[in-house]
Amino acid sequence: MARTGILIDNQWRQSESGRTIDVLAPATGQPFASIAAAVDADVDAAVKAARRAVESGVWGRMNAAERGRLLSRMAIVVADHAEELAQLEARDTGKPIKQARNDIVAAARYFEFYGGGADKVHGDTIPFLAGHFAATERLPHGVTAHIIPWNYPAQMFPRSVGPALAMGNAVVMKPAEDACQTPLRMAELMVENGFPEGAINMITGYGHEAGAALSGHPDIDFISFIGSNQTGVQIQTAAARNHIGCTLELGGKSAQIVFADADLDAALPVLVGAIVQHAGQTCSAGSRLLVERSAYDRIVERVAERFAQVRVGTPEMDHDLGPVVSRRQQERVQGFCGRADADAIPLIAAGQMPADLPQGGFFVQPRLYGPVPRANSLASQEVFGPVMAVMPFEDEADAVALANATPYGLVAGIWTRDGARALRVGRRMQVGQVFVNCYGAGGGIELPFGGMKKSGHGREKGFEALYEFSAVRTMVIKHD
Ligand code: NAP
Ligand code: MG
Repeated sequence: MARTGILIDNQWRQSESGRTIDVLAPATGQPFASIAAAVDADVDAAVKAARRAVESGVWGRMNAAERGRLLSRMAIVVADHAEELAQLEARDTGKPIKQARNDIVAAARYFEFYGGGADKVHGDTIPFLAGHFAATERLPHGVTAHIIPWNYPAQMFPRSVGPALAMGNAVVMKPAEDACQTPLRMAELMVENGFPEGAINMITGYGHEAGAALSGHPDIDFISFIGSNQTGVQIQTAAARNHIGCTLELGGKSAQIVFADADLDAALPVLVGAIVQHAGQTCSAGSRLLVERSAYDRIVERVAERFAQVRVGTPEMDHDLGPVVSRRQQERVQGFCGRADADAIPLIAAGQMPADLPQGGFFVQPRLYGPVPRANSLASQEVFGPVMAVMPFEDEADAVALANATPYGLVAGIWTRDGARALRVGRRMQVGQVFVNCYGAGGGIELPFGGMKKSGHGREKGFEALYEFSAVRTMVIKHD
């Protein structure tokens, strides 16, 4: 069991509101824990603690190598607690236990990567006027605010706070109320393993209360947000009021483009896996399958066969996918399917729902629809569920146009044996990541990740995140 309180200055406490929120297991719909419902006063205390940490605390005086050592040690600590964390993540999010185990491997890797990165970000010297010396250095912003969603809390916690801490910021995180057990547990492990007071502060609660209080707080210096488009607007508005920067990662409607010459045996598990992984609740889910018309029937038949074998289950059953996270999300996904049915979009295949699924769990049937008309909402809106839209394209130019024809721009996958075509098409994708003959839904700690268009701006992961969580100061010294 994880801690259920708010973490400020390495102390756990309850909310000033005195209120708590039940945490439900998506597989049963039953509560298994409760968390504090933080309010303005709690957020204010957390931001003040973070401010003290960077300005007068041990954290602010710690050198980069030492910060890196603390983060690197967490990679080992997380690995040592892997099974406990995986069980917690699976129960809280509903995902199959093997997926949760992979998430914990990734979580440890984030700590390892950013632990190693802490002392590797260097400034430049710049040739300038004669008699002058000019140099830059990278500084932390100060207090960074982090708001993450419920789909991959175990990965998103170190993905977000890892680079911020590596650069020397003190962080205040608000995880999502629907799933926040592993971030709380990892924060507890950080305190037990040497992170000094105020470096890491955790605020649980509702987005419209705790999240809004944090993003609008006048004494934060930067916001990192992962979540929905609508909330992204509120975050960016709050950042604008304080004239601070933010990164927004707002999901997508990512295309997997399959040309007639693709190696279908290699592609099939990846094509289906990219929408089935965590029941489609992945920002980079490959939710549109674009297939070259000349091979449409042949390819879609194979995809349908595979899709029909997909099985839903509880975390312990460890099938291909679990329930979605909440009743609200279940209704949202069912709404999309209901509209697709009403619009008479053919259902090509559906996944298997075993008879012994627990009553009250938030299960939805995986569905493969197509051909989806280009103007239909299923062709452009993010479902965030195990629902895939199949669409034919005529030729290379049409594939590019169709892939780019949504408001989003997060990821694209291209399947072809023609290397030059892969490059041509890949370089025309209006997205932050392109995969050729593979697809990396959620993977790749080292790979810069983020959106174009309405998928947001700024980059997470890789070295880019270290730059996002820091700012350049230029210094000029006249010596002659
Ligand atoms: P959301 O509202 O954007 O939630 C994301 C995070 O923002 C959560 O921690 C949430 O807190 C917080 N939040 C909500 N309102 C806020 C506000 N006014 N100020 C500050 N923080 C706020 O997303 P959702 O409602 O969970 O999901 C809705 C849809 O968003 C999904 O169906 C999906 O399409 C998309 N989504 C995308 C991603 C992604 O990875 N890009 C992740 C999740 C959802 P609470 O949840 O605790 O209220
Ligand atoms: Mg939950």
